[in-house]
Parts: sequence; structure tokens; C-alpha cells
Amino acid sequence: MDKNIPYKTYLEESEMPKQWYNVRADMKNKPAPLLNPATHKPMTAEELGAVFCDELVKQELDNENAYIDIPTEILDFYKMYRPSPLVRAYCLEKVLDTPAKIYYKFEGNNTSGSHKLNSAIAQAYYAKKQGLKGVTTETGAGQWGTALSMATAYLGLECKVFMVKVSYEQKPFRREVMRTYGAEVTPSPSETTEVGRKILEAHPGTTGSLGCAISEAVEVATHTEGYRYVLGSVLNQVLLHQSVIGLESKAAFEKLGVKPDIIIGCAGGGSNLGGLISPFMGQKLRGEADYRFIAVEPASCPSLTRGRYAYDYCDTGMVCPLAKMYTLGSGFIPSANHAGGLRYHGMSSTISQLYDDKLMEAVSVEQTAVFEAAQKFARIEGILPAPESSHAIRVAIDEALKCKETGEEKTILFGLTGTGYFDMVAYQKFNDGLMTDYIPTDEELEKSFAGLPKID
Ligand SMILES: *Cc1c(COP(=O)(O)O)cnc(C)c1O
Repeated sequence: MDKNIPYKTYLEESEMPKQWYNVRADMKNKPAPLLNPATHKPMTAEELGAVFCDELVKQELDNENAYIDIPTEILDFYKMYRPSPLVRAYCLEKVLDTPAKIYYKFEGNNTSGSHKLNSAIAQAYYAKKQGLKGVTTETGAGQWGTALSMATAYLGLECKVFMVKVSYEQKPFRREVMRTYGAEVTPSPSETTEVGRKILEAHPGTTGSLGCAISEAVEVATHTEGYRYVLGSVLNQVLLHQSVIGLESKAAFEKLGVKPDIIIGCAGGGSNLGGLISPFMGQKLRGEADYRFIAVEPASCPSLTRGRYAYDYCDTGMVCPLAKMYTLGSGFIPSANHAGGLRYHGMSSTISQLYDDKLMEAVSVEQTAVFEAAQKFARIEGILPAPESSHAIRVAIDEALKCKETGEEKTILFGLTGTGYFDMVAYQKFNDGLMTDYIPTDEELEKSFAGLPKID
């Protein structure tokens, strides 16, 4: 053990961040604006206000203010499960026999089991403050729906969740957690919405997708008095709320007198990664410090490493605004991949712009290699990681092994976004040696790119 570096570093309650950090304020090239799908003009606050809560629209459009106060009520909720620990992975370092120093920020210490609660409570709070009755959303694997159910239960709001049908059937326990917290859960596509009926007619027997569930949730929000729609990733506002991960990490490192060299996060819609790297990226953008940032995505859904940087639809029903992002095309259906949270066809426009400006790197990894890393981590460090988080573990291990070859004593930080207790079917596949990974061919991707909207 290093002298002075404990296994776990927690901030004192008084040291917890009181403001979120908005990395867009320090970006020279701002993320591209959302466009109205009918007119292709930037969405106005008024148009966005029909779908999203007013205060969240303000945050979504704010490219100027670097710091935004966290309301006291949200700070109080954060205190129930934050600060999260910054852990020095001494045991993993020893087994890898690496000179690298490995740290991880663990976000799985709450009932929802992931970082998603950081934004769920913020979004539910602003809905409540606006005097709304409830919110709608979609959920794939179920982490976001669970987090939102916890937040709405706490604040006494209604919550309608459209859950991708295949997950609804395969993950009954996640569904029951949401219902326990009072959410109404509907398998998507459903007969309860116009867009759901349309999708079912065109694709009878479909098991659904995130894109379908989004369309249904937006329809219900815009057709129900006192309701708005909320989204658990991709949006600028979600990255803003998730900046508590990076702010706490940075403060903890400063307490230890340590500076990370490499910062690694898994990337689905980009919210945990964006939140983790934001304050460090801010330093890089302002020329105060340098870091290597690495986004890790599954080889089966490689939006950054093989996607196009273009305007695209965010949902299957094409009712949502268009976003400029690294995308595989809204019609892209990734093969069955056990990291449900990493199956979205696009990437946050903030992360997309930072990546396009070469301020960060991206790699894709195959599922079996990810689960090898997950199993190793569980056995050595004790925590059973979510499959999504294990993408970051894989690359953190790979970077630490590179250090072993070169003898470099790099300091590595990775985001451990959650626990994998509801993902035991995936672990079972891996344990039985039945896990495969399908990597899309160039032809398949070209076919999907052909469906991108033409925007001048
Ligand atoms: C949802 C989820 C992710 C991916 O979402 P991002 O918005 O890219 O952060 C990663 N890990 C876990 C545990 C998740 O639940």
C-alpha cells in the first residue's frame, strides 16, 4: 500500500459539490442544437417545453453558465447515498502485477444499482417544482426506470414507464422493483398509444426497442394533462447532473494529492462518461491540465468508433427532436448484447463534439472479453459489476497491463457505474461458455446510414 492512500476515499458531507459543472461553457465548439423534426430549425425553448420540464429545458439550452446551483432538496437526497467512494484497487493491481495505480469511482451503492439516480432525482424535482402530476419515460434493461421510480416515489409524483417488451418479460424482478416504488410499467410496444399500435401493426410480435419505447413515452407525456417526459441519458441536462461523479472524484484526488493520467468510462448514451470526465475535461479545455479520456463501447453497438457524425432521429417513431451525434442510424438494431444500457444507436451530442474535436478517444470491446474482466474483478475486488460497467473495467485492465510492459506508473481512474445483480442471465451465459458477440458488418452499417435524414 502507498503511504497516505487509503483503500477508500470519501468526501465529508461539507465537501460535497453544491453546484453541477456544465462542460459546454468551456467548449470552443458547442454541441450542435436539437432540430425540430418537421422544420429542421433549432428547437426553441417553447417547443421543448411541450415535452420537457421548463427548468430542464433551460439547462438543456444553457451553453454559457459553467456552474449551476444544485437545489437544497436535491442535495439532501444525494446525501442519502452520496458521496460515493473513490476506491484504490490495490488487490487488482497486485494480481495484475502492474506499476499502474488503479482507482474506481463506485456508483452502485443505491437500490437502483447505478449512477442513474443522480439525474432521476434532479429531473423529478424540477417536475414537482413546476406543479406537474407525473412523468413518463422509457427503460431498456430497467436501471433508469428503477432510478426514476425511486425519485418520483420520494417526491410523491406519478410515474409511467414504458419498458422494452423483451426486458419486461426477461427481467420481472426489475419490473417489480419499479412497481414497489409505485410506477406503472407497460411493456413496449403496447396497444395503449397510437405510435405503439402503428409499430405493432408493421412488426407483429416485435419484442421492442428503446427507440419504440421513447416514442410511446413521449406520446403519453404530450397527451396527458400535467405530465412531461424525462430521459435518463444522451441529453445535455443529464450529463450536467451526472457531473457530481466527476466533481466528487476530482475533489477526492485533490485531497489525496494525486492526479489521474487516464480516465475511462463506458459509453451508452454518454451520461456517466460525460459526468465523470466533465470537470477534468474543463481543465483540459482551459489549458490547465492534460488527461487521456477513453470512451468504451460494445463492438456490437459501436456508435463512436464506427458511426457517422450526423443529425439523426432519437427514436423509432421519429417524434423526438433531431440530434447531431455519432450514430449508427435510428433503424439500427444491435444484436442481443447483455449490456442493455449500451445498446442505444446514438451518443450524447456533447460527447460526440468532444470526440470529433479529438479531445478524447474511443475503443470498442467484445462481450466475452468484457465478462472475463467482470469475473476477474468480482473475484478480486469483491463487487459484482454491471455488464455495462465491465466495459470500463476491461479497458482499465488493458491499460494497466500496458504499463506493466513499459514500466510506466500511470494513474488510471475508471467509472464503476453499477452492480450486476439483475444481470445474472448474462453471467449464466458466460459461465456456461455460451456467450457470443455479433459484430455488425460494414454492409449492415451502410444500410442503416442510408436511413439518416438529409439535413443541409
Ligand atoms: C445506463 C447505464 C450505463 C450507460 O448509460 P450512460 O448514459 O452511457 O452512462 C452504464 N452503466 C450502467 C450501470 C447503466 O445502468
